Amino acid sequence: MSTVVQKFGGTSVGDVEKIKKAAAKIKRAKESGSRVVTVVSAMGKSTDALVQLAQDITDSPNKREMDMLLSTGEQVTSSLMVMALKEMGIEAISFTGWQAGIRTEAVHQNARITHIDTERIEEQLNSGKVVIVAGFQGMSEDGEITTLGRGGSDTTAVALAAALKADSCSIYTDVDGVYTCDPRVAKSARKLQSISYDEMLELANLGAGVLHPRAVEFAKNYDVPLIVRSSITDEDGTIVEEEASVEQNLVVRGLAFEGAVTKITVERLPNRYDTMSNVFASLAEAGINVDIIIQQMTGENEMNVSFSIHTQALTEALQVLENKKEVLGYANIRHEDRLAKVSIVGSGMISNPGVAAEMFTVLSDQQIAVKMVSTSEIKVSAVVPEEEMVKGVEALHTAFKLDSRQAAKV
Ligand code: ADP
Ligand code: ASP
Ligand code: MG
Repeated sequence: MSTVVQKFGGTSVGDVEKIKKAAAKIKRAKESGSRVVTVVSAMGKSTDALVQLAQDITDSPNKREMDMLLSTGEQVTSSLMVMALKEMGIEAISFTGWQAGIRTEAVHQNARITHIDTERIEEQLNSGKVVIVAGFQGMSEDGEITTLGRGGSDTTAVALAAALKADSCSIYTDVDGVYTCDPRVAKSARKLQSISYDEMLELANLGAGVLHPRAVEFAKNYDVPLIVRSSITDEDGTIVEEEASVEQNLVVRGLAFEGAVTKITVERLPNRYDTMSNVFASLAEAGINVDIIIQQMTGENEMNVSFSIHTQALTEALQVLENKKEVLGYANIRHEDRLAKVSIVGSGMISNPGVAAEMFTVLSDQQIAVKMVSTSEIKVSAVVPEEEMVKGVEALHTAFKLDSRQAAKV
């Protein structure tokens, strides 16, 4: 008997009618003879509403208590889903993350799943029930409730699929697949039939919110066949797999972007062996995520170091550097905010030189200033002014032949 794991995201269970529609899909999977485990997200924007409640009380809510609070959102959906299924004559049971045996690191708000004890789920599946699991949560070794980071229900689903050795993992959402770019921004974005794990991982890490990056990481590491599809229509979705077929020999498979980027430049640091490690160890100790780094010699004994961070971390980053001013020995700090990162991704880049050059030509034709750059084998990212982000994305989408109109002509 096959085992399938499904996941329904927030919009797809946003109200009672949608919960009933999702239940009808679950019923169909069950009646086709599979063992079914379904992961659900919190209803609609209810996680945001819970975050807001906490912020109405304090500027710095305790992380443990945030996990206690946010984990309730998914529990609401899971019990309602079971009620909807029972009304349709389907036997089902809901589990919180910890009841489902999901164990995580002892980190609040962004925990990684360490292992899953599937015994209780297996028991219920063997008794013929559909198992509904509250997404985005688990329990640490010391018995504390943890959450997996925003968007983490995707990771719950893929990790369960890996642990249960499921035949497939379907992510039901409010788009009918993975597109060449966020279809809400690039109107001419095109749905992809398939995409490789590596490309999807880059896109997810670079801002494409359609899948949680750790979910893709899990799927790649455990070879889980992952399908992103619509919770409303029955259209084929997008398959995320090891080797995606190359459509029309395109070098770039997709584009991602994210705003709220800030560039910080530490000026006139001493040119010593330990300067870089001192700067970045200080930031890491404070838990500040640094993205692109540029080092530039400005004299025989002096250098500037620039790096980009999420704008949310700006105040803390400036504070850390200020506190270490004497040890680091710099002269001055500048920062530039309201920036954005625009990235192109595609496995075809490995064997095609000149992709970065083409990207810069497209941006310069649009008179968009490039502030920082980073590359890997399969991506190029450029930091640009935030107000130019959408214009840049649209121009790149067309230049790299990703538009749906262009595809129709080929
Ligand atoms: P869910 O609540 O189901 O988890 P999300 O909002 O997390 O849904 O993810 C779906 C959204 O991801 C879409 O509505 C879309 O705007 C956005 N998105 C961003 N990049 C892409 C992309 N490349 N392809 C499809 N959707 C994308
Ligand atoms: N409810 C959580 C969030 O909004 C987790 C998820 O939906 O995946 O981030
Ligand atoms: Mg999501």
